[in-house]
Amino acid sequence: MQVPLLDLKAQYQTIRAEILKVTDEVFESQYFILGPRVERLEKEIAAYCSSKHAVGVSSGTDALLVALMAAEIGPGDAVITTPYTFFATAGSITRTGARPVFVDIDPDTYNISCEHLESLLSAMTSAESASLKAVIPVHLYGQCATMDPILKVAADNNLVVIEDAAQAIGAEYRGRRAGSMGDFGCFSFFPSKNLGAFGDGGAVTTNTDEFYDKVRTLRVHGSGPKYYHPLIGGNFRLDALQAAVICVKLKYLDDWTDARRENARKYRELFTLARLDDVVWIPAESQDRHVYNQFVISVKTKRDELRRFMNDAGIGTEVYYPLPLHLQECFSELNYKKGDFPAAEHAAGHTLALPVYPEMSDDQQAYVVEKIKAFYS
Ligand SMILES: *Cc1c(COP(=O)(O)O)cnc(C)c1O
Repeated sequence: MQVPLLDLKAQYQTIRAEILKVTDEVFESQYFILGPRVERLEKEIAAYCSSKHAVGVSSGTDALLVALMAAEIGPGDAVITTPYTFFATAGSITRTGARPVFVDIDPDTYNISCEHLESLLSAMTSAESASLKAVIPVHLYGQCATMDPILKVAADNNLVVIEDAAQAIGAEYRGRRAGSMGDFGCFSFFPSKNLGAFGDGGAVTTNTDEFYDKVRTLRVHGSGPKYYHPLIGGNFRLDALQAAVICVKLKYLDDWTDARRENARKYRELFTLARLDDVVWIPAESQDRHVYNQFVISVKTKRDELRRFMNDAGIGTEVYYPLPLHLQECFSELNYKKGDFPAAEHAAGHTLALPVYPEMSDDQQAYVVEKIKAFYS
């Protein structure tokens, strides 16, 4: 049996006719950049994310970058985030000229640890805390970070909050949607995200009118009116073609999310039946709406051997992420070392993402758990 990590071809077959209709409309219009389709998507994304505004941008990475630029983060500033995330989170901070400051994760959720965040802040000198401008909590794998303590720390220290919700569209924390809690929410429409375009795309959400205007201006080289530049921005525009595709897919997102959540529930049941608890650890079920961009297990031993074994059995898996950001070569100037963030380092060495995509069958899921059991027995 073959079980890919993600099966976008299966998803495409269910929406093919609708996609071909809207893409044909875009081709006939020959209107490709921003425009009415992007505006319509922005309204729908804002409503879906319970935010006042949304701005379509060129990628999740550019969503982060433009949010940081709108918050006027730059050289001399420091921005707190997690070392256990996709590179773009910290890469964007550095690209503004600011410095990322890492805080270890909570091993139970893989998200930034609020205890560590609070102790970092209370140990800072006044010069250090003066340079601190923002915090980027990441809603990793589709589960919101524990936002209340983060929002409190941010309010107490005057920090801008930028939610990296690239993996978490539709996720909730205490009834609030990802991207609606901080000053900015950053989303990605990279094809493997829960709401994937046919190429790159992203969005920034905000409840603040001033930030909304600024992100829109920065998206088009900081211009407004055209050819007059109050700010220096970039080309962070979203294509009409991608907006048309995402609008079609957005109608199905809740069904797909329900299927992902149901697959996660079934995995929990299958792993319990398989009695693998001495070797395989699965995060406890969240009371909040986890959207399972990834279903990630942590294994006690032989993660890489397990991955090869699964691959030989036709099962796609992935390691998100094998090297935490504080140990990346490009960040060596930040002077972090091995041992600084033990929970992130442990996760990097022991976790494995299993297929959890909506179109997966019961038989495929049973096969995945059966193979993991076979490997460890
Ligand atoms: C995918 C992702 C991004 C970047 O999004 P792109 O659209 O690929 O640029 C940023 N942060 C996280 C956590 C992501 O998973």
